[in-house]
Amino acid sequence: MSKILGIIGGGQLGMMITEAAKTLSDYIEKIIVLDPTENCPAAQAGAEQIVGDFKDKKAIHELSEKSDIITYEIESGDSDVLKSVEIKSEVNPSPETLKIIQDKFLQKMFLSENKIPVAEFIQIKSITDLRNGLNEFGYPSLLKARRDAYDGRGNFKINSYDDAQKAFDYFNGKGLMLEKFVPFKMEVSVIAARNTLGQIKTYPLVENIHENNILRETIAPARVSKEISDKAEEIAKNTMKVLKGAGVFGIEMFVSKDDQILINEIAPRVHNSGHHTLQSSETSQFEQHLRAILGLDLGSVKLVHPTIMYNILGAKDFEGKYETIEISESNVYLKMYGKKISKPQRKLGHVNFVATERESVEDLLRKLDSLKDKFQIRPAT
Ligand code: AMP
Repeated sequence: MSKILGIIGGGQLGMMITEAAKTLSDYIEKIIVLDPTENCPAAQAGAEQIVGDFKDKKAIHELSEKSDIITYEIESGDSDVLKSVEIKSEVNPSPETLKIIQDKFLQKMFLSENKIPVAEFIQIKSITDLRNGLNEFGYPSLLKARRDAYDGRGNFKINSYDDAQKAFDYFNGKGLMLEKFVPFKMEVSVIAARNTLGQIKTYPLVENIHENNILRETIAPARVSKEISDKAEEIAKNTMKVLKGAGVFGIEMFVSKDDQILINEIAPRVHNSGHHTLQSSETSQFEQHLRAILGLDLGSVKLVHPTIMYNILGAKDFEGKYETIEISESNVYLKMYGKKISKPQRKLGHVNFVATERESVEDLLRKLDSLKDKFQIRPAT
């Protein structure tokens, strides 16, 4: 039976889910998104839109009245409200899972209780807790806001005893945790899917390069040994087994200098580091997410072509309309998100560099380097 799907959030992730839904038209009748920006990216791709805040109770209820299944492309939705609409529509991933993931401390507790490797951490309620924690973990250590922090904005790196008070005051009474610093050699991630029937699949490990805490490049597959990628996929599978609910999850990890794999953070949604799957893989992460929440068999996660994804980000010191970006190169796929206004570091699009049979990841990196300038955001004239 064909379903109506409601999505909390209609940004680029909602847009690419909406586009993927077109290939599953036998199962999906319509997509409705809840988003505060009129004509949001998902609406431009054909979704119906309720204009409203992601946390607006009334709007979430309206969305659930109209939808058979609710999912989300952002993790800041109100999990209690989502729980309350479960009687009207299925919500996936489950609001219980969302509640755990939204709080970095609860997330790490959950993972460590389930024997999934994470960096050492403790909850911080007072400056005394912080000083004790620093004595135990040493320097540097990271003080993190437990909630509502993404792209590194909720982290304070403490380099010495003298920084402790400043770091504590910076968060102004927010719930906090302290984490031991991991001297990693690489940041990696696994896109994992679990459908409503419990079937689990993981995409091959990818390598992520960040700039100012924002993802800049993803290299698929990650340049690591088979042992490391197998281990990371196994950790991702074990994580999916213990997390309730269905959907695609982005599982971010560190590969430490001594080749340990530790989970840094889980996103209960399709993930920026999975955008390469649009061209590299037999099934895109967006289609996979739909298959997972619809209870269909999961698609093949085979990586057919090595691919590099490069994010197109708003220039640091500019806000306003920007020049159109165009590229016509074989095996280079540009995807802009239809956002009219650029803001510093705003994700405006991405580009996938797909390898031919004769090209290696190193060739792709050289190609990206030679074309990077074309993807810089410039003010419209
Ligand atoms: P987060 O917002 O917590 O995911 O952190 C943003 C970035 O900070 C990560 O992508 C890492 O580069 C860095 N980071 C976070 N936690 C740690 C850690 N325990 N050790 C070293 N770097 C970290």
